[in-house]
Amino acid sequence: MPDIVPDPRVKRPGHIAVTNLLAWYERSRRDLPWRDAGVTAWQILVSEFMLQQTPVARVLSIWPDWVRRWPTASATAAASTAEVLRAWGKLGYPRRALRLHECATVIARDHGDVVPSDVETLLRLPGVGSYTARAVACFAYRQRVPVVDTNVRRVVARAVHGRADAGSPSVSRDHADVAALLPEDGTAPRFSVALMELGATVCTARAPRCGLCPLAECAWRSADYPPAVGPARRVQRYAGTDRQVRGCLLDVLRATDSPVTRAQLDVAWLSDTRQRDRALDSLLVDGLVTQTVDGRFALGGER
Ligand code: SF4
Repeated sequence: MPDIVPDPRVKRPGHIAVTNLLAWYERSRRDLPWRDAGVTAWQILVSEFMLQQTPVARVLSIWPDWVRRWPTASATAAASTAEVLRAWGKLGYPRRALRLHECATVIARDHGDVVPSDVETLLRLPGVGSYTARAVACFAYRQRVPVVDTNVRRVVARAVHGRADAGSPSVSRDHADVAALLPEDGTAPRFSVALMELGATVCTARAPRCGLCPLAECAWRSADYPPAVGPARRVQRYAGTDRQVRGCLLDVLRATDSPVTRAQLDVAWLSDTRQRDRALDSLLVDGLVTQTVDGRFALGGER
């Protein structure tokens, strides 16, 4: 994304100063490879699929090899489902890998191997939701659209509305909130990524580092940090969940090139056999695991 010098006279409603935020972003942004010049819209789309509910560090361990191996939608579509699931590794939420493969197939087949640039068309692609569609339109095609993730919602809740947290999401309200803050000029995409970065690295959920914050005005700070109202957010656990069991079963299949017997799968989770059976059933239903004609099990799409 080329640098654009913002107009210092521009004052935004909601008291997020464009100039301060952009200057901070230039100084402090993380060096993430999907932000580099020359990264294509397809490769940005891949990063957005991977980053859904997944820490950046884990995506960094996979994304570079992935886009080297499959740099385009058509290259991804030409890979088998099993190859894609194997490369997804332990990134988690592996249904995303299936949706990404389907998305690649549609883009290669119906869009001339070019990621669409308008939000409405992006939203019709498999696995592409409200956030991802706008993130691609903004980060790949430099459009002035509100890009609203958890981090952005939190910064806006604090800096603009003076609340400790953002409460329940509302797509229309959240988009309207952020749209009102976007600069009118060509700095809007930069502003969007900077706002997201601020929430990810400074205005974090548990311990905002207000001493490092570039925002001269913050309604929550000015009000002396009133506590959150409403029920505390539930912390998602992983240990012992069906998600963990599904991951253990997939680990067995990823570790081998040939189908395995039911007994070989069963040893992956011995503590609760009903939970294991339920997890395996759900993997079969999701298409992440397939059963061969002789009754053995393999990664989806593998025979
Ligand atoms: S001053 Fe603190 S709470 Fe307000 S936006 Fe900055 S980091 Fe967040």
